[in-house]
Amino acid sequence: MDIVTGFMIWAAEATTLGVLLWSRWFYERQPFYLSWGFGFVFHGIGVGMVALRGSLPEFLSIEIANTVALAGIGLWIVGMMQFDNRRLDPFAAIPALIWVAGMFLDPVRETFSYRVALYHGAASVGYLILIGAILWGENHRSSTRRLFAGCIGVQVLSSVLVATLVLVSEPSSFSADTKSIWLLFTAALCFVAAVMSGAKLINERSEAKLKLLAVTDPLTGILNRRGLIEEFHRLKRSTSHTGGMLALIHLDLDGFKQINDIYGHQAGDEVLVAFGRIGTAAQRGRGSFGRMGGEEFASIMHVGDTIEAASVAEAVRTTLKRQPILVGEHRIAVTVSIGIAVADAKAADLDALLSAADRALYKAKTSGRDRTAIGTERDVYVIPAVDNAHPGEPAYDVGMTQQVAALRRIAAIGQR
Ligand code: GH3
Ligand code: MG
Ligand code: MG
Repeated sequence: MDIVTGFMIWAAEATTLGVLLWSRWFYERQPFYLSWGFGFVFHGIGVGMVALRGSLPEFLSIEIANTVALAGIGLWIVGMMQFDNRRLDPFAAIPALIWVAGMFLDPVRETFSYRVALYHGAASVGYLILIGAILWGENHRSSTRRLFAGCIGVQVLSSVLVATLVLVSEPSSFSADTKSIWLLFTAALCFVAAVMSGAKLINERSEAKLKLLAVTDPLTGILNRRGLIEEFHRLKRSTSHTGGMLALIHLDLDGFKQINDIYGHQAGDEVLVAFGRIGTAAQRGRGSFGRMGGEEFASIMHVGDTIEAASVAEAVRTTLKRQPILVGEHRIAVTVSIGIAVADAKAADLDALLSAADRALYKAKTSGRDRTAIGTERDVYVIPAVDNAHPGEPAYDVGMTQQVAALRRIAAIGQR
């Protein structure tokens, strides 16, 4: 086999792969498929035109062919940036530009060995930029990315070697260049390995997306029940040696059926979305907020003590109460009842926490709704809320210190 036949096979493979990537783009509409598809088709056409030297005018088989092949490498860089949702980089044009610049130098344009060296030099620069784009991605420590970059790294070495050999032996045409034929095999192997690790990268991302979908509530975009359960186990594992406590906060919107009845199901949905946002914001950074189903939400948190969990719950409750939710021209006043259960991080059992929080929530509902209750193994304590002063309950200013005192008392009970 000679180099020209090798080029033709290479061109056919690259073009086929490009077309396959286009078809993938057609179904998934991810822009990186289109760029990579064009990258392979350009590269294939370019290499094919080089192989057709003699049957094509020299300008096409030299100047244009190599520019097109190198533009293909640039498009792989573009695709990699799109894969990571990053800003497109003008760096992608460098390989083709190096070639075009070289064509303005007479000795380079007129000498076969210089042209081959220039092509491989420009390609190496392109591959190095590609490696940078791969390793600079979202998750650059992933082993697949390292493998992908490694395959392209071998490609760089092989290109540099070809360029060096050609400059040393100065062949006058492809048929006179007998030394670098074996490098074509190395390059082909790298090519296949790079394509396979690239495919693995795509698969890993699709899997991660599916996994995320499985733990996300489609209406509100926050964690669903399954996601919250996973989060509990993750938090338990990561905090069991640091100590502290795990809190489960169970929240149920009050009179939600009525909201649906008065404003419609669609408005009800919007209230759920708005509440998801309020809850997430109120406990930011402390843990995870999710939707258990229907109008029931939950939060899993790592806390120092019961009082910390209670203050987050009270923050959610009072924030919701202060801000009526705007749906169209309606301002819908919504309140929430909350049940809390707390356990030592090492010993925390999810079922026990769920049922304790559920009992507390029931007590919060039966005590008049719009309040927080804390469940312990033996009993449930309803936090006397200052904003809920009913006839016969203490006035606001007295209530404020009372609430703090009550929270302290509850914290002491929770830690006993
Ligand atoms: P309570 O104060 O006792 O919690 O009363 P409630 O009306 O909130 O409780 P109930 O469990 O009787 O009603 C819950 C309602 O939530 C009934 C159901 O139609 C509604 N719901 C459940 N899921 C959704 C949803 O995804 N969207 C909307 N709009 N409504 C939902
Ligand atoms: Mg309910
Ligand atoms: Mg409810």
